[in-house]
Amino acid sequence: TAASPSATGADPDKIHNLIIVGSGPAGYTAAIYAARAELEPLVFEGLEFGGALMTTTDVENYPGFPEGIQGPELMTHMRDQAERFGADLRMEDVTKLEVSGDIKKVHVGDEVYAARAVILSMGAAARYLDVPGEQEFLGRGVSSCATCDGFFFRDKPIVVVGGGDSAMEEAGFLTRFGSKVTLIHRREEFRASKIMIDRVRNNDKVEILTNKVVSNVRGDDSGSVAGLALTDTVTGEQSEIDTAAMFVAIGHDPRSSLVKGQVDLDDEGYVLTDIATTATNVPGVFACGDLVDKRYQQAVTAAGSGCSAAIDAEHFLASLG
Ligand code: FAD
Repeated sequence: TAASPSATGADPDKIHNLIIVGSGPAGYTAAIYAARAELEPLVFEGLEFGGALMTTTDVENYPGFPEGIQGPELMTHMRDQAERFGADLRMEDVTKLEVSGDIKKVHVGDEVYAARAVILSMGAAARYLDVPGEQEFLGRGVSSCATCDGFFFRDKPIVVVGGGDSAMEEAGFLTRFGSKVTLIHRREEFRASKIMIDRVRNNDKVEILTNKVVSNVRGDDSGSVAGLALTDTVTGEQSEIDTAAMFVAIGHDPRSSLVKGQVDLDDEGYVLTDIATTATNVPGVFACGDLVDKRYQQAVTAAGSGCSAAIDAEHFLASLG
């Protein structure tokens, strides 16, 4: 069944210039640039449109908002801006991609859309613990991003959960803010490199609790995190810890399954791009945002690379004549 053409004429029978998959800061920025370059981009935003910032409250480090802005409000602004220039936005999940040929095929359920170029901007999902209270207090003390949210917990006790290099890095970074940082790890041994572990061990503001898992996140009357219930993985003993924040630092899963086997990925599943541009190894396929970036993972860097991807796609399309 063919979908009815939208205002910009997007329909399954047409060959589009550009299809953008994903709607975080990277996808919407790519959409703004591509729409203003008159490429009439078709954007599949996903059912969970707006990306990772929809799950947070205050964003204080996105330039242009001196008083800060709520994450969902920022994303609504970006969405409106893309729409204003004529990007065709669709709150649908892409279910399959075929990107090897000159004409890329983008499947959305039973419908197949064709495009000369595709921008991948599906982001990376932060891993969480999946314990009671965790999702309820997201943005209210539970976070997966120390760079983003550490500042909110000045002189307050902070917990970091994890045992890899990023957990060590976040624990060290958060000592700048917290009155104390407690690192909780489920095993005795850490996966992190020795130098990172030593740095944390030698930091007076960090206490390390091993063989413990968080079993519950509890809040206070104001709806913010107040403490955690812990279970000892060896003895089963229960305990409590008071804290204003729980930073979960157990990794991210790049949402690259749609292009696995078609586009080069690194060993963690991040899409590999050319060093200087957003081009993948497949001509006409560009990638941006957290899907390619395991180092910075910020809204402004995602938006920046979304801009680059749109410009790269525009040059690619121009080269086709
Ligand atoms: P995302 O924002 O993850 O967006 C990807 C989008 O693609 C999603 O909407 C998803 O639904 C969609 N998608 C995925 N698969 C499909 C598909 N098959 N079809 C269609 N759509 C699909 N950064 C800051 O700079 N400042 C902050 O204060 C800040 N706070 C944060 C707080 C939290 C709790 C978290 C988790 C992150 C925070 N970040 C912050 C990081 C920031 O949100 C990310 O770096 C940024 O959102 C990455 O943008 P992106 O566009 O690459 O991906």
